Amino acid sequence: MIRSHSRLLKSSLAALTAASTLLLAACGSDSSAPATEMTDAKPTITVYTSRNEHLVKPLFDQYTKETGSEIRYITDKAGALIQRLKAEGATTPADMLITVDVGNLWQAANEGLFRSIDSTVLDTNIPAELQSSNNEWFGLSVRARTIVYSTERVKPEDLSTYEALAEPQWQGRLCLRTSKKVYNQSLVATMINSQGEAATEETVKGWVNNLATAPFSNDTKAMEAVLAGQCDATIVNTYYFGRVLKKNPETKLALFWPNQSDRGVHINVSGAGITQHAKQPEAAQALLEWLSSPTAQAQLAQSNQEYPANPLVKPSAEVAAWGDFKADAINVEAAGSQQTAAVRLMDRAQYH
Ligand code: FE
Repeated sequence: MIRSHSRLLKSSLAALTAASTLLLAACGSDSSAPATEMTDAKPTITVYTSRNEHLVKPLFDQYTKETGSEIRYITDKAGALIQRLKAEGATTPADMLITVDVGNLWQAANEGLFRSIDSTVLDTNIPAELQSSNNEWFGLSVRARTIVYSTERVKPEDLSTYEALAEPQWQGRLCLRTSKKVYNQSLVATMINSQGEAATEETVKGWVNNLATAPFSNDTKAMEAVLAGQCDATIVNTYYFGRVLKKNPETKLALFWPNQSDRGVHINVSGAGITQHAKQPEAAQALLEWLSSPTAQAQLAQSNQEYPANPLVKPSAEVAAWGDFKADAINVEAAGSQQTAAVRLMDRAQYH
């Protein structure tokens, strides 16, 4: 459960490839109602999603069961889906885009791919700092990007803030994921917002100086390097740590919540918006509202070890066991607006 003054965190916290077209699938076909009756009565909603099928399909199946609305979806990487939406323009079949990280949501919004929607349900279910200021996208789950350390070589009292990992005592002891990943771009973007550009650049240069080895392609590899003794600490999204813990509850890795006496831990969201050229905007809005409901949020919370965005819903027992923390209360949108500055800064700091 996340401690914060925010509502959410207080209570719990044209890649038009043939391949992706082949993934176009209908789900919820287990309904016993005759297909003709359903298509006549309810519009079919089309969703583009960068979230994995194993996360979205159970939710979509449940929605179809409850409402009779069929959902067709394709899965692909966020960048490819954004390019696809741009290329398709007004002819897109997509009513909704679901993706992870504000960096991606902000980019889609910036390209004019979302429409602003007016929904008291969404405004009630999703805290203001987890949605776009003009109602174009809404967070559906929360992840924290935090420090993971070796319990064999680091004591928690050796750790304090993201910035402290730039200090000389971490020389040759730090592992990081590549700066090309939007997760790190968003982390640095929010640091620019709170610390200023010059101070953030000093920090990032310090990190690069302290690297034990070249940045890794993903969070899991960075944690494996800590486990292997290649380095002593890294920065990852909480659910990746959750996967390690699930595989090996005795792992010699632990989570640390940094910046507890100042701005708090960097959090980010997965989220969704209704497309500018949606053919079924009302039906898609009803689906989005349902995804923010306690029922759907509870289902989502169990499946990927993320924190629910709806403050009424508790995280899973495994996630709750990681303990309370103060989250950065900045509107996550800042990660998008400072993204370009973050990428340039990391480039100057030679963080690759
Ligand atoms: Fe991820």
